[in-house]
Amino acid sequence: MADSRLILVVEDNEQNLELVEFLLEDAGMRVRVAQDADAARVQLQAEVPDLILMDMQLPGTDGLTLVGEIRGRTQTSDVPIIALTAHAMRGDRERFLAGGCDAYIPKPINAVTFVDEIVTVLGQVAVRDGETSVRR
Ligand code: MN
Repeated sequence: MADSRLILVVEDNEQNLELVEFLLEDAGMRVRVAQDADAARVQLQAEVPDLILMDMQLPGTDGLTLVGEIRGRTQTSDVPIIALTAHAMRGDRERFLAGGCDAYIPKPINAVTFVDEIVTVLGQVAVRDGETSVRR
């Protein structure tokens, strides 16, 4: 699958970050990484990604607070965001969606289905926004 979309991965766990980066790059996507909110802010100033994958448990500023910032900025208000989280608790999914995330993928991620899940979300967001085709 050829897909050169730019994905920002915000994740402090290095093992998980490396796995996600590998899977996305293997699918032809371009990946930027950030291990905390400050690094993510720098990345988002430099370029606006097609999608953000956001670990919710970050050191310092947590994922949900960062999602709020991203939604509040004109340049990034429409960028699709997928929440990633371990130790999912009842109500997390609803809380993340209410907080501005478009979808939610629990960790540990399934390496076999991960990219398909992401592409599915991108398709759903495109339909929601009234686009006639998924951007390539
Ligand atoms: Mn984390």
